[in-house]
Amino acid sequence: MSALTDLIYAGSNAVAGLTAGAVNDAIAKYGADTPISFPDTAYYFPTIYAATGVKVKALGDLPACVDVLKSLITNKDDIGAALNAGLATAVGAEIIEGLKYADGAQPYAEESGIGFVPDPIIRSLGVPLVTGDIPGVAVVLGKADSAEAVAKVVKDYQSKGILTFMIGDCIEQALEAGVKMGLELRVVPLGHDVTSVIHVVTVAIRAALIFGNVQPGDLNALLKYTKDRVPAFVNTFGALNEVVVSAGAGAIALGFPVVVDQDIGELQVPGALEYEGNHEETAKRSLSLRNIHIKVKELPIPVAFAAAFEGEIIRKADMKVEFWSSKNTTCELVTTRSMDEIEDHKITVDGPDIDSGDVEYALATYIEVAGAKMQKDFESVIERKIHAWFNYMEGVMHTGQRNQFRIRISNDAYDKGLRMKHFGEVLYNMIMDEFDAVVDKCQVTLVTDPEKATKILKEEAMPAYNARDDRLSSMTDESVDQFYTCILCQSFAPSHCCVVTPERLGLCGAVSWLDAKATNELDPSGPCQIVPKDHIIDENIGRWEEVNDAVKKYSQGALESVTLYSIMEDPMTSCGCFECICGIEPLSNGVVIVNREFKGMTPTGMTFGELASMTGGGVQTPGFMGHGRHFIASHKFAAAEGGVGRIVWMPKELKDDVAVRLNKTAKEMLGIDNFVDMIGDETIAEDAETLLTFLTEKGHPALTMNPLM
Ligand code: SF4
Ligand code: ZN
Repeated sequence: MSALTDLIYAGSNAVAGLTAGAVNDAIAKYGADTPISFPDTAYYFPTIYAATGVKVKALGDLPACVDVLKSLITNKDDIGAALNAGLATAVGAEIIEGLKYADGAQPYAEESGIGFVPDPIIRSLGVPLVTGDIPGVAVVLGKADSAEAVAKVVKDYQSKGILTFMIGDCIEQALEAGVKMGLELRVVPLGHDVTSVIHVVTVAIRAALIFGNVQPGDLNALLKYTKDRVPAFVNTFGALNEVVVSAGAGAIALGFPVVVDQDIGELQVPGALEYEGNHEETAKRSLSLRNIHIKVKELPIPVAFAAAFEGEIIRKADMKVEFWSSKNTTCELVTTRSMDEIEDHKITVDGPDIDSGDVEYALATYIEVAGAKMQKDFESVIERKIHAWFNYMEGVMHTGQRNQFRIRISNDAYDKGLRMKHFGEVLYNMIMDEFDAVVDKCQVTLVTDPEKATKILKEEAMPAYNARDDRLSSMTDESVDQFYTCILCQSFAPSHCCVVTPERLGLCGAVSWLDAKATNELDPSGPCQIVPKDHIIDENIGRWEEVNDAVKKYSQGALESVTLYSIMEDPMTSCGCFECICGIEPLSNGVVIVNREFKGMTPTGMTFGELASMTGGGVQTPGFMGHGRHFIASHKFAAAEGGVGRIVWMPKELKDDVAVRLNKTAKEMLGIDNFVDMIGDETIAEDAETLLTFLTEKGHPALTMNPLM
């Protein structure tokens, strides 16, 4: 038998033994009927569920799974068979980790790792993964010879926007060497036991179930999905034992190449298991094995620039200077000029620079663009990117937009030489990079002089914001002559297609009709295609011939027709990365809406994750529909079923967030004042009966509408 298969089987057999023992012990201790689950998932034990279709709900379900696991370990001298044994190790790791959660335990409460990754986090990763904002997923495990080696590799990934999951002592090593961690910083510590590697494996597996419409039990489809669509790879540090090797075999079976830093000589399998001893090269080698190409932005600024720094928080103690609307005038404006009015790449700082000795400054970020194809409608699309671009600078934090923002610059960034002109360089370079199809010339003025900034705010920015708001609120589905498709999410949800209209943004919340229009203009053969609306079939339910043609075409025939305004009849499909999900609540004849962030129970008896699992992967599920937050107050929300008057319950935070707009819509559509006060939330009701009592007291309109079903 080859040395590699030997090692894999040794590891798999060891894990199988441990798993069987752990299951027996747990059953002896708690009893076979005791329920068991990972926190906040609708996919049971995800690896077992996806691979076999078995729903593990109680400890007594596990012995049969251990038998399946053992059957995967054939001890045959064949690399394919040995990779199956690697999958057995994954199943074993899943069971061992799952048992840690028995009896309501919180095994990761005291750990530096987070353990199991809940469904909503996976859904939130959908958009950054499809846009390439997160170009790949690294799994880093083990203990390196030096803390610096780990930090080098992890920071390398961080600067490239790669999402890194860490397992083992390398977590402490990275912390020691100054790596900042957190999901928003794209470095996620999972745990110290090698079995905690399963928590990233189940992320990939649930992605297949959530986005890919892979059916539980279809192991081949699962392995194809993870191989083709999950851009993950593994790096190990330090000595390899047989358990690590067999876990590595599991990774390879899922299509994830493994790069080790120990010389394993002839054990190497080109393309799947390779040795790289030089940590300067680890990232490069790993990315090329997975075919991940990263466009590096070389900007003339003294600090790093990467999406991974977007979530960086700068505390007061680390802050050199601040621009904050509560203290000084702030505004940011993109405005269109004619070609001869501006000078390309002219960057001006008008007022004191940040080395003047002051801590607080005014700031008007004033961007003038010109281009033959530039349209007024694109100004806000460009302007909204300022937030991300400024945040991408290491040592810069930006929150808010328009005339309400706050920027902090860290001492560190200042010491590296960051000054106002660099903000101008970032804006100029990024606009010319991302909007080159419409912007031919760009001039940036950073006004820190308080009087001049105020003059820009009053005379130009406020009138521009107001005009845009007027245009947006007057823009209805009827007022435009075309909609747009968006198929960005197809890299994860192969048959999903959003239809974006002025009154219905993409379900991820990130693509408005204006965004889709700009995307189409920037890349005419890209993800957003024009859908003319010449042939209406049914206005009330939102059925158009061209919409049907478009979804049929872009879903590759998976869909025949969708309606834009109904949640019951051919509703729009969901990919999985939706901000909110609505689902019918039969007792009150209405719908509940839950946002991704809400962790509690809803009156449907289902959590966000459970509701979300009812749809997704590009399938239509009448009665359940993913959508953006902004859509809640739309005149088109469930319009075919009576509109916003159907909404009977939302989490309080969501209710507060949409209250002003929703009250306005309800007043216009139903003539009801303060409609939001009639809607239940978790402080009012968590079950259908209590909710019904509340709605009856309030005289909620859904109670007297036509039966939903
Ligand atoms: Fe994905 Fe739809 Fe958002 Fe496009 S609009 S990114 S397809 S969810
Ligand atoms: Zn999506």
